[in-house]
Amino acid sequence: MTGSDPAIVVEGLRKTYGGKPALAGLDLTVPQGTVHAVLGPNGAGKTTCVRILATLLRPDGGRAEVAGYDVRRHPDQVRYRIGLLGQYAAVDEELSGRQNLEMFGRLYHLGARRAGARADELLERFGLTGTGHKAVGQYSGGMRRRLDLAASLIMRPQVLFLDEPTTGLDPRGRTEVWNAVRSLVGGGTTVLLTTQYLEEADQLADRICVVDHGRVIADGTADQLKARIGGDRIEVVLRDGGQLDAAASVVGLAAGAAEDEVETDADRRRVAARVENRVAALTETVRALAAAGIEAEDIVLRRPTLDEVFLHLTGRSAADGAAEETADDTKDHSKDDATDHTTDHTTKEGAGV
Ligand code: ATP
Repeated sequence: MTGSDPAIVVEGLRKTYGGKPALAGLDLTVPQGTVHAVLGPNGAGKTTCVRILATLLRPDGGRAEVAGYDVRRHPDQVRYRIGLLGQYAAVDEELSGRQNLEMFGRLYHLGARRAGARADELLERFGLTGTGHKAVGQYSGGMRRRLDLAASLIMRPQVLFLDEPTTGLDPRGRTEVWNAVRSLVGGGTTVLLTTQYLEEADQLADRICVVDHGRVIADGTADQLKARIGGDRIEVVLRDGGQLDAAASVVGLAAGAAEDEVETDADRRRVAARVENRVAALTETVRALAAAGIEAEDIVLRRPTLDEVFLHLTGRSAADGAAEETADDTKDHSKDDATDHTTDHTTKEGAGV
């Protein structure tokens, strides 16, 4: 792989479970040194994609290359160059953070001295030096996930897969992990991140592809995706909900939005409209509301959220997608066909490969 080759190339990737497609022709290209988010609800096919790219699962069709090697033809070469942080990591709760990292280093034949040095380096990098000697069972969720991340980096992988790295963490733990991922990318690692959290993709990724039913339905930067549903929005919260209809026509006119582009929410006393020119729309809205004797409690200009983008693209919210999957959950992991080339337990569930 030369400097300009993509770190990951996926073309028409397919995988079917019991006649039901989990991946239905997925395409993806990730340039080196970037963070790419694969965003989608439960059951969209994110984990299946990561497991194929990490050589833990064989695709039924299509092509995937990681760090310049075909995952089917050269799985060993791929494994040598990647790290994987799965949804369930494989650190030992009885051991300390440092002992865990050292153990992974030894598993990768680093030798005692190098494994110890690498453990210390990684503990420092992820802000865990002070707690490195504590048993992992006593770690907070955020600390534990940072340790998982450190474990996946023992061998300095070129490409790192993070499969829903912050699922189940509280906001503080999530922020800790986000900061850890940011520091990592500064060092040149390519990251493929799967997430159900639109905000996570927004925070971390250079590019985002939205996946639904096993294929990419939209692709771009967070700003490009947001622009697809039509630029910025102005939102006005009224002091008096009785003025909602009057405010809707005033705001619509001031923002230059068509009638069907103005939304009202009676419960929240809120009027929202699409705007073309942010500053002019804001100034004009403030002036027109005052002239009409309508008092606003709050006026904000904002970009659409990725949640709104998902709703726009799929006609349902990310949460609806998750509910649909739960109702239809036929997942049976006993059917996994990873046996063909699965590596050991540590590589499968969390540590670097
Ligand atoms: P989540 O966010 O819940 O992890 P996901 O986007 O990662 O979801 P996958 O886990 O890749 O989605 O699952 C895609 C589809 O394939 C789902 O319909 C799921 O039920 C099905 N599936 C995944 N693994 C298996 C399996 N081992 N056996 C049968 N069906 C499976």
